[in-house]
Amino acid sequence: MSQGFKGFALVTGASSGIGAIYAERLARRGHDLILVARNAERLRKLADRIAAETGRKVEVIAADLGKRDDLARVEAELRGNRRITTLVNNAGVGATAPLLQSDIDKMSDMIALNVNALMRLTYAAVPGFVERGGGTIINIASIVAVAPERLNGVYGGSKAFVLAFSQSLKHELSDKGVRVHVVLPGATATDFWEIAGKPVEHLPSEIVMTAAAMVDAALAGLDLGEFVTVPSLPDVADWNAFEAGRQALLPNLSRTEPAARYGVRPEAA
Ligand code: NAP
Repeated sequence: MSQGFKGFALVTGASSGIGAIYAERLARRGHDLILVARNAERLRKLADRIAAETGRKVEVIAADLGKRDDLARVEAELRGNRRITTLVNNAGVGATAPLLQSDIDKMSDMIALNVNALMRLTYAAVPGFVERGGGTIINIASIVAVAPERLNGVYGGSKAFVLAFSQSLKHELSDKGVRVHVVLPGATATDFWEIAGKPVEHLPSEIVMTAAAMVDAALAGLDLGEFVTVPSLPDVADWNAFEAGRQALLPNLSRTEPAARYGVRPEAA
């Protein structure tokens, strides 16, 4: 059901999977859209369908966010378009191979997209959001942010970046009206798996969620005011305990003296 106009949402990786569902759901919630991905034809088809179904304005930007010039065009849009109220940093690629079987150039390309593009687009969006007194940033991380042993380690590391960066954004921006939401999906049935080297049909079906259910849960988490949403996690108390453990570490992470268990006498340090 359509609601009142909420400004433009710029969604990266909108041509398929999770990003395409976000686009459709955000349009139904009252956003006009700017859809970004490489495949212009798929973007255009989706844009036409969403516009026809929702009556919202849907623009597309065909861009390879791993390429500097293309990324700069999307950054310019975020800096210059004052009607953008929401940025969904969703574009990303994964890998399933371990280090010894991985191509180092593909690892670098993954960092360029999952880390560098997400960071640059956020830096492009934030000053305008702060100036206008509001905005929402939705960062799509992954459960591998906290379980990097599950898949390729560079992929896990890139998603740990997304979680840590989001924690810092929340810390710096929540008093400036900017909402930060980070989503940690588990296995979700999209093209991601085929591209990452393991078709989704090869996963145990009991660990795989549909993209529609994943996004609907994530948007419900956003509505609940969650900072982190883990769509699969049955009991949110488990995440809260994990976060409480992290918070408990903070006062002791930087001190004059090494911990007693290392047996280093202060004068020798
Ligand atoms: P997907 O269906 O493969 O979608 C990836 C999207 O990113 C596509 O729209 C793709 O479009 C775009 N993209 C890829 N490379 C790009 C580039 N260089 N520049 C611009 N756009 C690019 O996979 P998905 O599952 O929806 O993935 C979306 C996000 O969810 C990713 O960040 C992924 O890490 C995360 N995630 C997925 C899962 C899962 O199990 N599926 C789990 C946790 C997290 P083009 O090919 O047209 O560029």
